[in-house]
Amino acid sequence: MGEVPGPDRPHVQEVKPVSEITSPSVSIREPSLSDTLARFAAAAIQTLGPDKVDGPANDLLSDTLHREPADHVILRPGSTADVQAALELARSHGQSVHPYSTGRNWGYGTSYPADDRTRVLLDLSGMNRILAFDATLGIVTVEPGVRQGDLAAFLADRGAPFITPTTGAGPSPSLIGNALERGYGLTPIGDHFGAIMGIEAVLADGTVYRSPFMPEAPDGPQPVYKYGTGPYIDGVFSQAGNAVVTRMTLRLAPKPQRIETFYFIVRDDAHLEACIDAIRYMLLESGMPISGINFVNGSRMQAQVGGNGTMSVAKWFGTGVLFGDKEMVKASRACVRRALKGLVRRVFFLNEDRLALARKAYGVLRKTGRGAALEPFLVNSENLLGILGGQPSEFGMPLAYAKNPGGMPDKGLDPARDGCGLLWYVPIVPMRGEDARRYANMVGRICGKYGFDDMITFSSLSPTAFDSTVPLIFDPTKEGSANAMACLRDLIEEGRREGFHPYRYHGRTMDLATACQPTFWDTAARVKSALDPDHLISPGRYTAPNDAA
Ligand SMILES: Cc1cc2nc3c(=O)[nH]c(=O)nc-3n(C[C@H](O)[C@H](O)[C@H](O)COP(=O)(O)OP(=O)(O)OC[C@H]3O[C@@H](n4cnc5c(N)ncnc54)[C@H](O)[C@@H]3O)c2cc1C
Repeated sequence: MGEVPGPDRPHVQEVKPVSEITSPSVSIREPSLSDTLARFAAAAIQTLGPDKVDGPANDLLSDTLHREPADHVILRPGSTADVQAALELARSHGQSVHPYSTGRNWGYGTSYPADDRTRVLLDLSGMNRILAFDATLGIVTVEPGVRQGDLAAFLADRGAPFITPTTGAGPSPSLIGNALERGYGLTPIGDHFGAIMGIEAVLADGTVYRSPFMPEAPDGPQPVYKYGTGPYIDGVFSQAGNAVVTRMTLRLAPKPQRIETFYFIVRDDAHLEACIDAIRYMLLESGMPISGINFVNGSRMQAQVGGNGTMSVAKWFGTGVLFGDKEMVKASRACVRRALKGLVRRVFFLNEDRLALARKAYGVLRKTGRGAALEPFLVNSENLLGILGGQPSEFGMPLAYAKNPGGMPDKGLDPARDGCGLLWYVPIVPMRGEDARRYANMVGRICGKYGFDDMITFSSLSPTAFDSTVPLIFDPTKEGSANAMACLRDLIEEGRREGFHPYRYHGRTMDLATACQPTFWDTAARVKSALDPDHLISPGRYTAPNDAA
């Protein structure tokens, strides 16, 4: 992955050496990589048009990790036919391609290919139409460039009571890229891959694949059932480089009568195990309309909201979300309090009505020069309720700027563009008290070794499993990046020895991703070989290094 080799690419049909295509009387030289890319870009302009081709240039991509400058060409297809043409062109020029939807995979490699030898990017952000929407069922079909913010605006314009699947990454990332990476959020359909009802994708040979119930016409009847009939194949297009996805149908959660969050502060670290067991009880056994719980440690909390006031005493801080009929939500409060009894002093419940009252009280207090501490609480609560209700916001993103506060714009945050260093460690942790403790100890030990704070969040992905996110935030110099990457690799390896496997990997750690369960990865490689025998699309992405070569 590290060294950039010459123009001879082992993966795909090779470019003819100049010696074979020029007269012997002409002085012979091997084409440099930049010549090859320039020729490719010129051909792409002929095929796609000048407005759909950028480069070659060495400053087209940015990342939250130090990268040496390298030439890339970006193709910006506007249609499925353009994608087919781009793949054909890349193949005929011996280039592999890396597709992305909006390229905001911050902390996992952003828009960089997994293999440094891939120099052609397929930027699908220009394919940004919302193709179909069923206002009764909340089923929507989108192209890759449709962002969370676009869908939220579309639904708001129509007064459609459905929830955009938001994440902590703000309004600008795509729905399709996030779903393909199996990203998640805290809304009622938090598993974004799970929400996929069907896809259209262009395979490496140009064939257009469609899920069994996916119509050929973009505005045809949308699939309302995920699996169709026959073998379930859509899964091989997630966390993989097996095709270029050009269309996706997603199910949205309806807006409930009530969205209510609850907060609790745990002042004694010794309560960690009991809190985890209480969380499991609430999610698995209580029967409450609860869509998820986030449980973060003190250092993560302080990085996110600052260390003042009540938060400074928090060893752990929990946020849960109740969705549904008003009466059901109200009745659930007693159950939440009971589950956390003896572990916390109080549980705070917040919904739009209560927030409006708090706003009023704050207005009165402010006139008397008091209540300043309430302001950040109100802003955070409003943003959180907004995100849970499907209104994406950037309020969680300043975390990525913790080491670069001066680089943070007022809005339009982009940690890669703005020079922030960020890597995510994201393992699955079983929802058991003793596992959470073992995990937290391991993270503390390894982060400390590399000089990082152990900023831990446990987010419920299901009633039995957390995904834990640990951000490594650093100055993205060469040395800072190397140290952060060494820490990430150590966390992955040590965590796996302890039984904690990441649900998603950075592009630079594909060797680790594929270094376990050999039969599984061999099967994945066979699928890749069947669909893309020349490794034309995203070579090295979720494949073992020797499969990509
Ligand atoms: C502060 C912060 C908070 C975050 N919070 C969250 C969170 O709560 N949840 C979460 O999931 N993530 C989170 N992220 C991580 C990340 O930014 C998001 O997951 C984001 O949605 C990914 O970017 P994207 O949608 O532009 O995907 P892309 O970068 O477009 O795609 C990601 C990858 O998927 C594949 N891919 C994408 N589109 C296609 C296609 N059309 N065809 C074939 N392959 C494709 C490619 O391999 C690509 O590299 C967070 C990041 C930050 C900085």
